[in-house]
Amino acid sequence: MRQVYMDHSATTPVDPEVFKAIIPYFNDRYGNPSSIYSLGREAKEAVNRAREQVAFLINAKPGEIYFTSCGTEADNQAIISYMMTNKDRGNHLITTAVEHHAVLDACRFLEKQGFELTVLPVKPDGLVDPEELRWALKTNTILVSIMHANNEVGTIQPIKELAAISHQGGAFFHTDAVQTVGKIPVDVEELGVDMLSASSHKLYGPKGVGCLYRRKRARVKNYLHGGAQEKKIRPGTENVPGIVGFGKAAELAQQNLIQRTEKLDYLAARLRDGILNNIPRTRLTGHPVKRVPGHVSVCFEFVEGESILLMLDINGIMGSSGSACTSGSLDPSHVLLAMGLSHEIAHGSLRLTLGKNNTEEEVDYVIEVLPGIIQRLREMSPLSR
Ligand SMILES: *Cc1c(COP(=O)(O)O)cnc(C)c1O
Repeated sequence: MRQVYMDHSATTPVDPEVFKAIIPYFNDRYGNPSSIYSLGREAKEAVNRAREQVAFLINAKPGEIYFTSCGTEADNQAIISYMMTNKDRGNHLITTAVEHHAVLDACRFLEKQGFELTVLPVKPDGLVDPEELRWALKTNTILVSIMHANNEVGTIQPIKELAAISHQGGAFFHTDAVQTVGKIPVDVEELGVDMLSASSHKLYGPKGVGCLYRRKRARVKNYLHGGAQEKKIRPGTENVPGIVGFGKAAELAQQNLIQRTEKLDYLAARLRDGILNNIPRTRLTGHPVKRVPGHVSVCFEFVEGESILLMLDINGIMGSSGSACTSGSLDPSHVLLAMGLSHEIAHGSLRLTLGKNNTEEEVDYVIEVLPGIIQRLREMSPLSR
């Protein structure tokens, strides 16, 4: 049966060129970057080359990139370590109600430890109101963490403006850019952020590697304890193959970015219109235009997202409902609820996220199959009667 993968916000396939670049670091070049003989030095050079590649993608300096084991770790490091390290300056932090759990739960953990937390609401399109942030900043606020783009609905926040407001209020700014790095131009200087998280497996690199970008002025201490790797900020022997793959993926992400975006915008518009025009009582979620390329998220009235996914799967189509991390629980998405959708509507959510290998034919196949699925589910649903 044909397989149509439309869940690129959950993860992406490793690009064949990335795969090729990684292999030697599993066999011939297995050295430990901390060893002084040539095998070790070779591994260290490979890690530093990857650091340059990742830094280049976001216009950072290589010395500002710290590799981690995933995006989640980068988020935790940015938030928990930053607050712990700088608690002499204040104990208040601000985030938003639509963050990924890696940020939201790290903030809630700090709140339980006695830090003061403000969670900003969002507008129905998922955007944070900059005025809300201005009002929330206090003299003891030292950190604001707001995601660049939302994983569930694709809404892109005005990070430059939000970072500037935070700085005016005397706070540093972190952004979870896992959903944007490699998909849209991300420039840390232009955005004015102090810290940023990224993850390799969302941009056609391998899983299990991410990075924290950190400007020198944003002081953080290690929260793992051990060796001197990553300037002691993140001890532990480096995941050399993973890091090499992340670097290669970062390099590739820069090539043809504009053309890839145009193609994704075209396909996403076709998919979105195909769904909205052929299935009644359906609405787009997230911002209509300020969204990640290739990201389509909708809610169908009177159906369960989980059932849609199962029916799609029977037809070889892979998508998601809510975020992959929370599916499995029956709670509706915290993101959709924060955007003001009712529990009933939020239950019927579907996210289809396109990637560079998706074709027009695949989009048309989904448009052909989906209306029948929704119709059948509605016929079975007690909610629609
Ligand atoms: C996937 C994702 C993460 C987590 O990254 P991992 O590398 O999977 O830990 C964090 N934030 C956002 C917005 C994500 O989409």
